[in-house]
Amino acid sequence: MGLIMTLLEKSSLFPGMQYFSTRGRAAAQSFSQILLGGLAPDGGLYLPTEYPKVSDAELNAWRKLSYADLALEVLKKFATDIPVSDLKALTHKTYAADVYRNARKDEDASQITPLRVLEDGQKGKLVLQALSNGPTLAFKDMAMQLLGNLFEYTLAKQNAELNIFGATSGDTGSAAEYAMRGKKGIRVFMLSPHKKMSAFQTAQMFSLQDPNIFNIAVEGVFDDCQDMVKAVSNDLDFKTRHKIGTVNSINWARVVAQVVYYFRGYLAATTSNDQKVSFTVPSGNFGNICAGHIARMMGLPIDKLVAATNENDVLDEFFRTGSYRVRKSAETYHTSSPSMDISKASNFERFVFDLLDRDAERVRTLFHKVETQGGFDLSGKPGSDGDEFKRVAQFGFLSGKSVHADRVNTIKDIYEKYGVMIDTHTADGVKVAREHLTPGVPMIVLETALPAKFNETIREALGCDAERPSGFENIEALPQRFDVMPANVDLVKTFIAGHTGL
Ligand SMILES: *Cc1c(COP(=O)(O)O)cnc(C)c1O
Repeated sequence: MGLIMTLLEKSSLFPGMQYFSTRGRAAAQSFSQILLGGLAPDGGLYLPTEYPKVSDAELNAWRKLSYADLALEVLKKFATDIPVSDLKALTHKTYAADVYRNARKDEDASQITPLRVLEDGQKGKLVLQALSNGPTLAFKDMAMQLLGNLFEYTLAKQNAELNIFGATSGDTGSAAEYAMRGKKGIRVFMLSPHKKMSAFQTAQMFSLQDPNIFNIAVEGVFDDCQDMVKAVSNDLDFKTRHKIGTVNSINWARVVAQVVYYFRGYLAATTSNDQKVSFTVPSGNFGNICAGHIARMMGLPIDKLVAATNENDVLDEFFRTGSYRVRKSAETYHTSSPSMDISKASNFERFVFDLLDRDAERVRTLFHKVETQGGFDLSGKPGSDGDEFKRVAQFGFLSGKSVHADRVNTIKDIYEKYGVMIDTHTADGVKVAREHLTPGVPMIVLETALPAKFNETIREALGCDAERPSGFENIEALPQRFDVMPANVDLVKTFIAGHTGL
């Protein structure tokens, strides 16, 4: 019986959701098969063969659900090879009020991502959706916490282990460590540039005492750390032997987890499915807003998706002109919204795939051109690579840019008018959102971090320290656990090998 069931499940009778590469040359995979991986073998990114649709009746039924049950409904459509009862246990463990207890005093933590109306004037309604109440005070917890539980679940089933290896300049590394701490079968080796992170971010990561977490402070800059990660990724032998994996923003499960809060934001801001909302998303690697695009493709009534960038305006340039031009690291600005300081947007290929009507061969050609010539142009001008920029509007995309002075002014303005302290990334979002307000369509700005993480700019804007959720008062004084290492790949390999016992 067991064998027959297995055969049936594998046959086309029960195909389930399949995933394939944006570059069209990788074998189809299931959700669990791509869960622990990164790029597809052909260099592309995984996407489902089609986006599952959400009906009007479903959307109505979802209005009453808790966040955890809503996450279950969305996840069920994508993770078709995991039993629903298991998914339910995972979403309830992940989206529990005590995990998101860093909510402000006037927010309801049990909402997980509570909404707050900032202004409701003639120009339109401006709403903030709090996504940063998790353990590391940034929206990355929303997806990374689910990933931690999914990884542990999957590894236990396969009786396998995973060693996560990555580099961070702050937010990603801490979100990954807090999601993976104490998880069976998982170790985390995280490189960060020695003495280059803020005191708060350093304390967040280095104060973790869990034996499966290894902080490695590299004597160099973030690029040195990234180069070391790349060097290890290119050593297939080492990667296989030591079961090395990553948790970067191209991970498909992370994107799916982010789809959920667009549904939640929409349902909380509306009373009927005839209404529309727009979202403004502080963007870097295009992971967060890509999830919004997917929610819209599933049928969620989203009007506009507005990508907000800082001085590193690769995405704003594309959405204004149709030209995608990645920057060299030397051209990347170090700004006061550092988690948006990117030179190229690693998830952008997923959107371009849909923009090109899912033509994998053209995606392959264009992203090859990104590698060899630094970009492509879809403006339709003579000599350009295509004219699909004219289709961007049909996907609802708009954009805007915010610079340091805008952030400072916006933080001050929102604090003075509404008594709400926002962080620098969210301020970029609010600045750009205000340029795209439409009467009758609520504009939801995704709050991607809490201000405590970026105290220096809060001081500049407000002349006082950022508020801290309780429990973080003395985080800098806690004992720290980390190893310092020169920027040397062989040394880090020896370190990993010494701790995996493989
Ligand atoms: C990661 C991050 C972003 C950018 O999100 P992407 O998914 O990379 O576009 C924005 N704000 C904060 C605070 C972040 O940590």
